[in-house]
Amino acid sequence: MDRTYNFNPGPAALPLEVLEQGRDSFMEYGGQGMSLMEMSHRSKPVERMIAETEELLLELIGLADAGYRVLFMSGGASAQFALAAMNLLTAGKSGRYVLSGGFSEKAYEEALSVGEAEVLASGKSHGWARLPDVDAALPGLTAADTAYVHLTTNNTIEGSQFRRFPDTGAIPLIGDMTSDILSRELDWKRFAMFYAGAQKNLGPAGVTAVVIREDLLAASAGAKLPAIFRYATYAANNSLYNTPPVHSIYMMKLMLEWTARQGGVAAMEARSAEKAALLYEAIDASGGFYGGIVERPYRSSMNATWRLSDESLERTFLQEAQAAGFAGLAGHRSVGGIRASIYNGVPVEACRALAGFMHDFRKRRG
Ligand SMILES: *Cc1c(COP(=O)(O)O)cnc(C)c1O
Repeated sequence: MDRTYNFNPGPAALPLEVLEQGRDSFMEYGGQGMSLMEMSHRSKPVERMIAETEELLLELIGLADAGYRVLFMSGGASAQFALAAMNLLTAGKSGRYVLSGGFSEKAYEEALSVGEAEVLASGKSHGWARLPDVDAALPGLTAADTAYVHLTTNNTIEGSQFRRFPDTGAIPLIGDMTSDILSRELDWKRFAMFYAGAQKNLGPAGVTAVVIREDLLAASAGAKLPAIFRYATYAANNSLYNTPPVHSIYMMKLMLEWTARQGGVAAMEARSAEKAALLYEAIDASGGFYGGIVERPYRSSMNATWRLSDESLERTFLQEAQAAGFAGLAGHRSVGGIRASIYNGVPVEACRALAGFMHDFRKRRG
């Protein structure tokens, strides 16, 4: 089968192996004479599948038996912008937001609709080309006045990524990891909660993984909220309080198993570094023909963004790239330029081919 080099920002490329496994179990699952999609969500096979997916995710990040749960929720990462505040933004405290790009702003705006929220640090005045210094903003904050600190670990639209994470002590740190979860090793325990819409590194769209420490669950149990919006409800019912997106969770399970087979998060990190290096080298060795949008120390290993020095050539670049079999390279409408999203499911080969195309295009047009 002829697969396009897929650089879509999300939903994004999935490994062929994962698609094939999904296909093979599409009609019939576990000797039940029916597909997973036709089974009661309260049946043993579905309960088991969901429990295994939770275990697998925690194992991949070394948080099994570390006091964390995984909740499978709907509404995407965007729902978490609101739900995190609804569950955890207690009266008399502020949610402190690190602004590093468009998605972080959305999270902040949703929190403002729920309660007290403040900007802790922002990279906006630099046009999001660099990340704000979070450590410098922390002194003086206490758990008495701060409900949590919210940080977007990878800025999908702009193409920047945090390398270090603040030590917020007793203040819970919440991470939107939608576009870089499982792409690198990190001190996951720094985060009291992190969430990721599945459609970038975890599988197809339709489900969001929320990894949350048990003490935050206890806090959410007391939140004055409808049960369906409480994290504690999902934890107490193993994400089966209402009918969950069973097929999406199953595809996530296949993606997690694939990740483990590749060698886990460490292998994903090595591969991401290799893929990102191919593209950034093509940019940096272009004598200014291409220029990165984000300053070098902040560049993302998941979303590489760049411009052509002659911006009128960008349309041609995108058209020729499309014709040559590269999909999804247009920058986000708010940024423009070019963006290559190189999530875990994107093979190294795709990046090598794109780097080759970039060199070739420059020779022809430079
Ligand atoms: C894609 C993305 C979102 C939005 O996710 P939805 O599932 O569409 O709500 C939020 N945050 C980040 C960092 C993203 O990459």
